[in-house]
Amino acid sequence: MSKTLVIGASGQLGIELVLALQAKHGVGSVHLADIRVPENEQVLKSHFLHLDATDEETMAKVLEEGRYVEVYQLAAMLSATSEKKPLAAWDLNMKSLLNVLEAGREGWIERVFWPSSIAVFGPGTPKKNVPQDALLDPSTVYGISKQSGEYWCRYYHEKFGVDVRSLRYPGLIGHRSNPGGGTTDYAVEIYDFAVQDLPYSCFLKADQALPMMFMDDAVRGTLELMAAPSDSIRVRTSYNFSGMSFSPAEVGESIRQHLPEFELEYAPDHRQEIASSWPESIDDIAAIHDWAWESRIDLSEMTKVMLEACRAKTIHTTS
Ligand code: NAD
Repeated sequence: MSKTLVIGASGQLGIELVLALQAKHGVGSVHLADIRVPENEQVLKSHFLHLDATDEETMAKVLEEGRYVEVYQLAAMLSATSEKKPLAAWDLNMKSLLNVLEAGREGWIERVFWPSSIAVFGPGTPKKNVPQDALLDPSTVYGISKQSGEYWCRYYHEKFGVDVRSLRYPGLIGHRSNPGGGTTDYAVEIYDFAVQDLPYSCFLKADQALPMMFMDDAVRGTLELMAAPSDSIRVRTSYNFSGMSFSPAEVGESIRQHLPEFELEYAPDHRQEIASSWPESIDDIAAIHDWAWESRIDLSEMTKVMLEACRAKTIHTTS
């Protein structure tokens, strides 16, 4: 029986990844770890461990005893929150990764997944179609932690043979869980407001295009990367990973195709500065070439699915 551990399982991505892993391997083969209990009944059918990923001793014990085939290490502080708590962000984002890489070095884990982010790019990076080997120039605490994490991954792979794999996620948009303090959270919230006929005030400016991806694509791509033969994984820092690129005005327009009365206002806040430092679009040819990555969901398809799902959620919570 293949055993998988998801650390940070209660978060926006964790919940979705756990659901997909349960469907693939069975509920009993997936274990969850987090400092808070996941708010999802189906997810909680798997064994839950209350675990602080920064605690070196406990992590070593759990990972040595667990002998997991795959560990997905998702615990992190996201971009907007990290700017408010820089040292805590560095501590969490680095220690949680290094504890898992150390377990990989000990031979207790076969494969590790750790997500990076488009936040590794910055003002010195091209804005459009950023190539895989573009200059990493992070200007946020979060981006600095992801850049360093990428190099730690490659180091553990090259020095100790740890099979660690990574993707530079764009902003992730899904309806099964709430976003956790990132700069692209608006693209999730906007749909909840739209289905309730409420105007939405966006914290980014109208034309701030950013790379984004629908959650189903992100989860499928992650599982495909983890299933690929080790020798096809040529990038051991982190793969560029692209779905779509859109601005708040464009997502507003796609919502108006279904809800013509939808009102969208703009009140850019501190998150605008973070967004301005990031690229608009990403070139993911290395992922396409090495493990046959293919994004499937565009903005209009995503809007249709998000509106239906958010409507169903609203009916469910009000009935
Ligand atoms: P999230 O904030 O929703 O979830 C993170 C989870 O980690 C939370 O459930 C939190 O309780 C848990 N956690 C925090 N501290 C912990 C600790 N000490 N020990 C154990 N668990 C702890 O974040 P997310 O959106 O699910 O992101 C998951 C990963 O994907 C992160 O590494 C993030 O940097 C990366 N990522 C996410 C996005 C996105 O748009 N969501 C984009 C790029 C990269």
